[in-house]
Amino acid sequence: MSLLTDKLYRYDAARNTRAAGIYPYFREIQSDQDTEVVINGKKVLMFGSNAYLGLTNHPKVKEAAINATKKYGTGMAGSRFLNGTLDIHVELEKKLAKFVGKEDAIVYSTGFNVNQGVISCITGREDYILWDELDHASIIEGARVSYSTKLKFRHNDMDSLEKQLQRCEPDKIKLIVIDGVFSMEGDISRLPEIIELAKKYNASVMVDEAHSLGVLGKNYSGKGLVEQCGLVDDVELIMGTFSKSLASLGGFIAGNEIILDYLRHNSRPYIFTASATPAATAAASAALDIIISEPERIKALWDITHYALDGFRERGFEIGHTSTPIIPLFIRDNEKTFLITKLLFEEGIFVNPVVSPAVAPSDTLIRFSLMATHTKEQVDIAFEKIESVFKKVGVLLHAKA
Ligand code: PMP
Repeated sequence: MSLLTDKLYRYDAARNTRAAGIYPYFREIQSDQDTEVVINGKKVLMFGSNAYLGLTNHPKVKEAAINATKKYGTGMAGSRFLNGTLDIHVELEKKLAKFVGKEDAIVYSTGFNVNQGVISCITGREDYILWDELDHASIIEGARVSYSTKLKFRHNDMDSLEKQLQRCEPDKIKLIVIDGVFSMEGDISRLPEIIELAKKYNASVMVDEAHSLGVLGKNYSGKGLVEQCGLVDDVELIMGTFSKSLASLGGFIAGNEIILDYLRHNSRPYIFTASATPAATAAASAALDIIISEPERIKALWDITHYALDGFRERGFEIGHTSTPIIPLFIRDNEKTFLITKLLFEEGIFVNPVVSPAVAPSDTLIRFSLMATHTKEQVDIAFEKIESVFKKVGVLLHAKA
């Protein structure tokens, strides 16, 4: 065995779970993706998707992808910078900028590329990046690639953020980057307080709306947390992905023309990656049109979300501070989390295990997520199965008497 293979063999985190028969990853879906999917020839209820509005299967979204493929072909053989810009990329950018209320927007090939490519590009050696400890991995990756000083603050903790801001040199750039809705715990960032601190210390704020686009917004607008808080002018950069409510693949950054022009000419994951496929671009655009014209979908998402949140709380599940379609069911034990995932799958319920190193070993959880297309009957089945599996595995519930 080479030194490299030997080293990686010793670090194989999956071996134990495979040996125990509780390995939960790479389950192959063999059907279209809705609230029910087929895996291993068996129907299961899907409570692990990020397609919050249930649009991956929408006829108009599919048709847009098919028509774009027919017109433009299957792939972009080049980056946006050179031969990879289509008229539909530019149209989508304009539509997105208008939607979130910013001057301009740029579409990247994935949401991960946006965070990685924006954060690393606009901060330099003398600058600071301040990030919440539960921010998404792509934000951390962007910070890692940047030459700036990185300062982590405790999750949603304003005292911790202020202490870190006080450590920064006053006349240097300070970029605070946060998730609008945290991807595993489902709680919402304290944006109004963050903006107050940003103003006090002359910092810039970037919000990742991956899990809030198509979900939050005034009067079910789906425009995200920033718009819901009335802070569009105070947040300098708004980031979003197409891989969740927009039922596609890709991502965007929105902000003022000066920053975006700089990014267009300097952001490496924008310049050195092939641009988003015609199908992905057209699907995202069609999904955005549906979000704009059908607020009732977002209302349906919230109705089922409240039903599930109330149901889990009444049954005594520990679900932390979530108030969104992402519901963490805390287990606080790696092995049990894997075992519960497996047993639930056998009972026809698909959920995602979240274990260390994604979260601290004491914070492992089952991530249960909802779509606008879920019915109460489906959620009732999930309640019953999850309750019985938790009991079997010995996870205590604390139902009110
Ligand atoms: N930001 C957050 C908060 C995310 O949860 C994700 C994906 N899970 C991303 C960015 C990356 O998005 P994408 O999957 O589109 O690359």
